[in-house]
Amino acid sequence: MIVILHPNLTRETAEFKATFEFLSALPNIRLNVHEEHGTQQVLTEIYLIGDTASLSADEIKALPAVERVVRISEEYRILGRHKDDTRPTAFEYNGVRFGQDNLNAFLGLCAVDNREHVELMMRALQEHGQVCTRMGAYKPRTNPYSFQGHGKSCLNYVFELAGKYSIRVIAMEVTHESHVEEIKTALEETGHPTGVMLQIGTRNTQNFELLKAVGRQRMFPVLIKRGFGITLEESLNAAEYLASEGNARVIFGLRGMKTNMGDPHRNFVDFAHVPAIKRLTRMPVCIDPSHSVGSRDAAPDGLLDVMHVTAQGVIAGANMILADFHPHPAKALVDGPQALTMAELPYFLEDIQIARDAYEKRIALAQSFAD
Ligand code: PEP
Ligand code: MN
Repeated sequence: MIVILHPNLTRETAEFKATFEFLSALPNIRLNVHEEHGTQQVLTEIYLIGDTASLSADEIKALPAVERVVRISEEYRILGRHKDDTRPTAFEYNGVRFGQDNLNAFLGLCAVDNREHVELMMRALQEHGQVCTRMGAYKPRTNPYSFQGHGKSCLNYVFELAGKYSIRVIAMEVTHESHVEEIKTALEETGHPTGVMLQIGTRNTQNFELLKAVGRQRMFPVLIKRGFGITLEESLNAAEYLASEGNARVIFGLRGMKTNMGDPHRNFVDFAHVPAIKRLTRMPVCIDPSHSVGSRDAAPDGLLDVMHVTAQGVIAGANMILADFHPHPAKALVDGPQALTMAELPYFLEDIQIARDAYEKRIALAQSFAD
């Protein structure tokens, strides 16, 4: 059971104390307090864990601090959508809104290779009105001899350039909790010119100690990718790990499943799960067409497979697109064969808009049919 308090009733308030005292006295119930600090207000939720079936929701709703009581019937206590659950499905970070009802594009380098390429990428993004990007500094590679990313040595110039080109959020994978500290330090050293969304890659979806560490910090939101060889339920539980440690600003990313059934694509595209994840949870859903498809192959209609699957995800309501670009794909140190070029940037953005417009028309149609 989740007890949702009126806004701004933090632990220090008399209403909170009275309510907490009452709930603490309930037999066989353990309490877990979760505070969400937004830009305007603090939302506090108290999780009642244990034998809640016999509790009276009406009695709890009558307590001074309580706005709403939600009985949890499903899994994913914090991030899930439960019956009569009207908790938010959006959050804001560094001036950018992330919700189940909007769409942000994170186009950029799979791996940072040099300053010049970072600058070319960010300048092009700014020219096309983009405020988010992806920049890999820590790369988990299959082969131990492959380029592993420049790590902390590139962070300062990446953040400075982001500030120069008004980039507000950079998606950046971390593979160890020490990387979070390195990112914090680099942001401090450069005067916080931008924001970072920490990314948990598909190889680390069930790295529970990493999830707990990233969940404990509240500074950065998190993009967690679905594990490429586990069930959706297992991956959603992995996302819940982040929230259970305190960080509920989580976006869930689809990036294709590892199976030869997906051939000729690098992975089997799983974007049909976009609406399912929005039904099961309150997380905005990201699609990664680059790591799903893994090539620049095109269909006879002239469209790249990467663009086709992006449109499929967006027309199904995706909220974020993470895609690889590179000024010179042939020179990219990681995943060059799947990267789109600077020249393709405006074309890709327009193609995305066509799919988004179609999605919005579909919503309007569904609405009118329901009326
Ligand atoms: C990436 O986005 O650069 C990446 C490595 O993705 P994934 O974890 O989905 O393979
Ligand atoms: Mn990659």
